[in-house]
Amino acid sequence: MSEAAHAPSLWAATAVPPPETGPLKGERDADCVVIGGGYTGLSTALHLAEVGSQAVVLEATEIGWGASGRNNGQVIPTLSRADPGDLVKRFGKAKGEAFAGVVRDSASLVFDLIRKHGIDCEAVQNGWIQPVHTPGRLGLAKRRVEQWAALGAPVELLDKPRLDRMLGSDYWHGGWTNRTGGHINPLGYARGLARAAITAGAAVHTRSPATRLERRGDAWRVETPHGAVTAPKIVIATGTYSDDLWPGLKQTVVPIRSYQMATTPISDNVRKSIVPGNQAVSDTHGDLYFFRWDAQGRLVSGGALLVQIADDARVKRRIAVRLQRLFPQLGEVKFDYVWNGYVGATQDKIPHLHELAPGVIGWLGCNGRGVAFATIMGRLLAEAVQGRPVADLPVPATPLEPIAGHGVVRHLARGMLLLYRWNDAKEWRAPA
Ligand SMILES: Cc1cc2nc3c(=O)[nH]c(=O)nc-3n(C[C@H](O)[C@H](O)[C@H](O)COP(=O)(O)OP(=O)(O)OC[C@H]3O[C@@H](n4cnc5c(N)ncnc54)[C@H](O)[C@@H]3O)c2cc1C
Repeated sequence: MSEAAHAPSLWAATAVPPPETGPLKGERDADCVVIGGGYTGLSTALHLAEVGSQAVVLEATEIGWGASGRNNGQVIPTLSRADPGDLVKRFGKAKGEAFAGVVRDSASLVFDLIRKHGIDCEAVQNGWIQPVHTPGRLGLAKRRVEQWAALGAPVELLDKPRLDRMLGSDYWHGGWTNRTGGHINPLGYARGLARAAITAGAAVHTRSPATRLERRGDAWRVETPHGAVTAPKIVIATGTYSDDLWPGLKQTVVPIRSYQMATTPISDNVRKSIVPGNQAVSDTHGDLYFFRWDAQGRLVSGGALLVQIADDARVKRRIAVRLQRLFPQLGEVKFDYVWNGYVGATQDKIPHLHELAPGVIGWLGCNGRGVAFATIMGRLLAEAVQGRPVADLPVPATPLEPIAGHGVVRHLARGMLLLYRWNDAKEWRAPA
């Protein structure tokens, strides 16, 4: 994907250094080639290496260069729109509930891996909160709590007085929380996963774009500029940063630019008055309000823009005004870092798992919720590489369906923000 000039991010400035890696040179064999060095690819490689299966990761640029190194670091055990009931409606009771079970367990897996491998990434598992921005959306919060509680998730409805205290703001109308969520330094987590995968026996090559895939008998040969790997299995883990390696893949998602920003460190007394429990927070706006603290007391937030001219300055103004409205105690808001990345939206707002050819598997379409989901998908993809039939995986595989007129749609996608803002201004009603 072509990429706008990238300002240095908070995460690039604060994450632990990456493990020593370099380009693939020469020919080699493996059990699996993993293309993409974000959470999906690194978690796949780690889980394969742990059962003695030789995985070779090929990353075009650097570890965590895609969405995994740029995100807000909120570890959220839900999809962006689809609730368990929606998954059951779409895929049937057994498969829908199994899919929801994967989402339910996803945040716990992130923090379990962090503890198990001693990953140094400012991990805080104090829960994730979703406040609601209109009174009617308390119905949505209630429905979500009921559905996730029925699946055994540690969730709780929060009334307005309690939520006001938890957030240090009287802007919202109540909400709900899932205690397995939290936040991390996202680039630090990606680098830690890479280190753990290498320690367990995986090979990770950076500056090694896969440029060509070729079927050779029962195996696949994956070429890079200076080498090639031959293996019976390929995991394509290129997400929204997919290029044209697999025809039609990148056309299955619409890339939407999301701006991220970090304030200057906030004084201790003000900090203690805003989300004193140090949870991750993202609300019910389609034009999402989201924020969390980092380890230096910066509020890390962001947003989207309809017009992307003079974007850094405009997003700073827009989000400063928003944060001041939510938390007047902040006073003047100044930002030290602004950066951006692409979120991959699918038409049905559900992530898609694809079996692209015999031995070739991948997923994409996080719709903005992928820190936890990509990690657990890596574990499932590793199981598929190990021989678990794709049809038996708890996440249903769907056919590759490139979006018609993708070239035009991706340029019009920003207009969706208008629709989101219009919906945000309307009251929510439970579907009949
Ligand atoms: C700005 C932003 C904020 C977000 N905030 C959150 C959040 O707070 N919480 C949350 O849950 N989710 C969030 N997300 C989503 C989350 O970051 C992603 O879902 C997740 O990181 C996806 O991981 P991945 O490994 O599938 O893909 P990526 O991390 O995008 O990795 C794909 C990798 O593939 C590489 N690649 C591409 N083509 C090739 C090739 N031909 N050969 C080799 N390598 C290739 C790329 O260089 C890239 O490094 C956010 C996303 C963005 C962009």
